[in-house]
Amino acid sequence: MRQITGLARVLILCLFASLSHQCIATEGPRQRSVVVLEEADFRSPFYSEIFSGIRAAAKQNGKAHTVIYGESLDLARFPGPDYEESLVDHLKTKYARRPIDAIVSIGVASAKFLQQRKQQIWPGAPVVYGFVPDLPETRALFLPDSTAVFARVRPAHLLTAARAIVPDLTRVVLVGDAWKNPLVYGYWKQDFAAAMPDLEVTDLSGLVLREVRERVASLPDRSAILTSAMYSDGEGTYYAPASALARVAETANRPIVITSDTFLGRSGVGGFLLLPEIIGRETGEVAMRILNGEAPSSIPPVTGNNVKPIFDWRQLQHWNVDEANLPPGSEVRFREASFWQQYYWHSTVVAGVVLVQALLITGLLHQRRLRFLAEIEARQRMSELAHLNRRATVGEMSASIAHELSQPLAAIMINAEAAREVLRHSTPDLGEVGNILDNIRHDDQRASEVIARLRMFLKRDPTERRELDLNATVGEVFRFLSVQALTHDVGLATEPAPADIRVKADKVQLQQAILNLVVNAMDAVAHLPDERRRIVGRTSLVDGKQAVVSIADAGDGILADKLTEIFKPFFTTKAQGMGIGLSIARTIVEAHGGRIWAENAPTGGAVFHISLPLAA
Ligand code: ADP
Repeated sequence: MRQITGLARVLILCLFASLSHQCIATEGPRQRSVVVLEEADFRSPFYSEIFSGIRAAAKQNGKAHTVIYGESLDLARFPGPDYEESLVDHLKTKYARRPIDAIVSIGVASAKFLQQRKQQIWPGAPVVYGFVPDLPETRALFLPDSTAVFARVRPAHLLTAARAIVPDLTRVVLVGDAWKNPLVYGYWKQDFAAAMPDLEVTDLSGLVLREVRERVASLPDRSAILTSAMYSDGEGTYYAPASALARVAETANRPIVITSDTFLGRSGVGGFLLLPEIIGRETGEVAMRILNGEAPSSIPPVTGNNVKPIFDWRQLQHWNVDEANLPPGSEVRFREASFWQQYYWHSTVVAGVVLVQALLITGLLHQRRLRFLAEIEARQRMSELAHLNRRATVGEMSASIAHELSQPLAAIMINAEAAREVLRHSTPDLGEVGNILDNIRHDDQRASEVIARLRMFLKRDPTERRELDLNATVGEVFRFLSVQALTHDVGLATEPAPADIRVKADKVQLQQAILNLVVNAMDAVAHLPDERRRIVGRTSLVDGKQAVVSIADAGDGILADKLTEIFKPFFTTKAQGMGIGLSIARTIVEAHGGRIWAENAPTGGAVFHISLPLAA
């Protein structure tokens, strides 16, 4: 242990002192101490902010480590010499071993206390006065080794604020116990009268809070309430000034002008507000200059920049105050962003999305309408084309139709002549004549049927879907083409399904599609030897839910790579062909929710199938 050097001893000492401020103090610059005497209670927001300001100023003073002590003298609530004497004893005892390098005195009451008592407690310490008005009465309180930073809301300030809020102001109502303080507010009523000779002043200061609340509830128009801090009311009940103000505001029917920013947001509209943090900062900065060696007498008292016009936006709205009336340089707090400001980006994005969506929907609707019109157009064209197709078919069949008609007509002629012969007899056989007339009628019916079929086939009705039996429909087409088949020496046969097959279709259109297939099949076998000149039309039910018509021929079939191409419009391999028969058939079938396709039969020849959904 004897070998421990002096430096190590210092280190160990520092360690035992747990790196405390004392250790740093012994090794660093000398520690300075400031005591802050606040006239009221540190716990009130106003005085607490002043203290924070002083501490902030001390922190920025890099020259010396400064210890700040704070004392709430609470002189408003505990007035009288006995309490002051007890304070002197208390402070003397408390600071006996703590030398004080400067005193910061906050408020007029504290200045008064020091004037009377400082000599007994800190005789040598210089004083910086803060939060005092620049009035001869307060300057008279200042001790010799001192300086000051003034802070004061002037009467003119209050009136300017009150008139900004109530432009046609005729009356001010004073609320708050502090208005009774003669040193701060002693001449205010005179000052008001000087600034506005017509102004009426209702002084409610010093009344009990209950009464104040009642009185402010029914104030006349064109009046404004001016408030100073209210710590206690006439009954000796003590308040935090901000809560006292809030209670007054609850019943007040007129706007309240306030004097401190700690009251803002508690239902005061605003006014020229004391800024306690800045008051503290300004006073603290002067105290630091003194600690750094400047003589207080060399620092003249100054008016701080610690009062600012500030207003509560929500209250301005409530009282319909035009912001343009506010004093120049006013700050407006608690402004609520409008919906547009708050949600600018959200709204823009949503509006953009909605716009794009609206455009898309409009575009889609437009396209849908175009498609709808195009579909109507296509259907009409298809119907026209189908009609033309039918007429062309009838044109081709005219020879066989003429043949079909000529038979009954010839029979009618023969029967008519036979009847005439019978009637020439003196006793004609009337029974015979009756038979002949029956035959004539029968042949006439046959001819009428041919014409009716032709007419129906050429009909140009609007699409009309009805439930029909596929077996009967196919049978009719085959019957219609039977004469033409006979002419070309082609055998037509049907193989209907054993039971009815019900589908919902436009009969004329469906027969057109089937007819096109049969006519093509007749073309395909026309040049072939007799045994291959046959066409079979079958109907069947597939999987119990699809009705199928198949037209099979024994021709040469279709080239495998053309099995789908043949359905395209204008595809033809015939010298006189138009290439629209299959295309029309496909359009008709697909419009009925069905399908059409071709294949080559293993035994040779082509088979065309039409499948249709069964009627529900
Ligand atoms: P077109 O009969 O005027 O040529 P279609 O559209 O009816 O027009 O037929 C298109 C083509 O399909 C025909 O030219 C032919 O090559 C082919 N085709 C149609 N039916 C058959 C069939 N039963 N056998 C062989 N080829 C066929």
